[in-house]
Amino acid sequence: MKTIEHFVGGKSFSGDSKKTSKVFNPATGEQSAEVKLASTKDVNQAVANAKKAFEDWANKPPLQRARIMFKFKELIEKNSDELTKIIVSEHGKVYEDAKGSLTRGLEVVEYACGIPQMLKGEFTENVGSSVDSWSIRQPLGVCAGITPFNFPAMVPMWMFPMAIACGNTFVLKPSEKDPSCSMRLAELLKDAGLPDGVFNIVNGDKEAVDALISNKDVVAMSFVGSTPIAKYIYENCAKNEKRVQALGGAKNHCVVMPDCDLDQAVNGLMGAAYGSAGERCMAQSVAVAVGGIGDKLVESLAKKVEALKVGPGMDKLSEMGPLVTKEHLAKVKGYVDIGEKEGAKLIVDGRNFKLQGYENGYYIGGCLFDHVKKDMRIYKEEIFGPVLSVVRAKDFDEALQLVNDHEFGNGVSIFTRDGDTGRTFSNKAKIGMVGINIPIPVPMAFHSFGGWKRSLFGDQHMHGPEGVRFYTKLKTITSRWPTGLRTDPEFVMPTMK
Ligand code: NAD
Repeated sequence: MKTIEHFVGGKSFSGDSKKTSKVFNPATGEQSAEVKLASTKDVNQAVANAKKAFEDWANKPPLQRARIMFKFKELIEKNSDELTKIIVSEHGKVYEDAKGSLTRGLEVVEYACGIPQMLKGEFTENVGSSVDSWSIRQPLGVCAGITPFNFPAMVPMWMFPMAIACGNTFVLKPSEKDPSCSMRLAELLKDAGLPDGVFNIVNGDKEAVDALISNKDVVAMSFVGSTPIAKYIYENCAKNEKRVQALGGAKNHCVVMPDCDLDQAVNGLMGAAYGSAGERCMAQSVAVAVGGIGDKLVESLAKKVEALKVGPGMDKLSEMGPLVTKEHLAKVKGYVDIGEKEGAKLIVDGRNFKLQGYENGYYIGGCLFDHVKKDMRIYKEEIFGPVLSVVRAKDFDEALQLVNDHEFGNGVSIFTRDGDTGRTFSNKAKIGMVGINIPIPVPMAFHSFGGWKRSLFGDQHMHGPEGVRFYTKLKTITSRWPTGLRTDPEFVMPTMK
């Protein structure tokens, strides 16, 4: 059985811990590897390596750091087929979707290639007579990232290219369910010329996470995962005096207005609800049918959900792959049971889906509920599977109220032909990322990604300009040369003359 180790100081690192966790291929249900789970000592060793590498790396000119990012970009492109297959083999999503997610990560690397421009700072000549002032952004030190299973390439790449390009060193703790893609990315970074110790990986579970939280040399923490863990990370990192951004779960709504292009809305919803088997933080799990459009919407959706092609991620015909683990499959099926008991109308039931030759894979067919009410658990909680709930709303105001009252605030969309409705909605929605006739409004790398309410704890979103702010500290220098204006001692608050 293959063992997945850690990556520390530019090479594979076994560590002390004997604890391991099993990694499975969700398409077949077979175990493909075991992954080491780091002890506190192992984590501290990784952080010590990152700390040692920091000073040299922080002093490297941003242009040289950018050149390594350019090389890394080339290597990702060259190895994209291999990286994509790794994602499919441990996560289960279909090949083209996995490739798309890798591309979205690659775009952050491309953005990071422009780091010299982003670190230029600001300068004012003569803030006072012969006094100049300028602001610069300096790296923080050792930064850490903890990532979820659902985007094993993209989410780590929201973090480390930005952190490293800004001059920090980094310790990543990927999901123990699909750690191999991060390990391969670490090798590619080394091949790109990244000095040893700048990027490190510790595989592990809660023990490794807690070791990163309590290690005083880790100065900033980026987290993406479920809301309860995001809150735990936020609170405990703050207690340990770290800068922190912690992105949590979601329940993204899609508001379907009566004037919309129904085909466009239905196709958008199909991809957004069932793509990646609903295991996306930007998946749409609630469709709000406004006015009289509900019956037509449900009818069109039902036909397409029944026709969904579910199969292994490497099969070109598959539109939706399996779920990530046996436990997650049981949880998602459990939610469908709950929805039925709560009185929602189950229009399409995917629970008994079976695939010949893949009987042990973690498959479920698409599920569709109608007449879901806002007090039901299937409406309130994140299911993270291919289960779409249709809620009926009498008008736009009621739909907007539903969106704004929900505990999560990651993404939302509206389908309408009316510009005024779209504009009012984007203005009033208490949500971080809004789409108008766009089903999954994931911002590009040169904008920033993040939700509101209990979908993000902290005040900076990820990558883009917010990423630069998160991974740097602002310093403002005010200076006068001796030949400038001479003054007597001043004992009052300086105001520039
Ligand atoms: P998770 O919260 O179970 O795990 C995320 C990370 O936290 C993993 O690395 C895991 O090892 C670690 N972890 C798990 N339990 C822990 C504990 N008790 N203490 C400390 N660390 C712990 O999430 P997941 O199941 O891997 O991923 C799915 C979740 O991530 C969903 O809720 C999804 O919405 C969310 N997500 C959010 C975004 C976003 O941008 N907001 C993006 C992707 C995924």
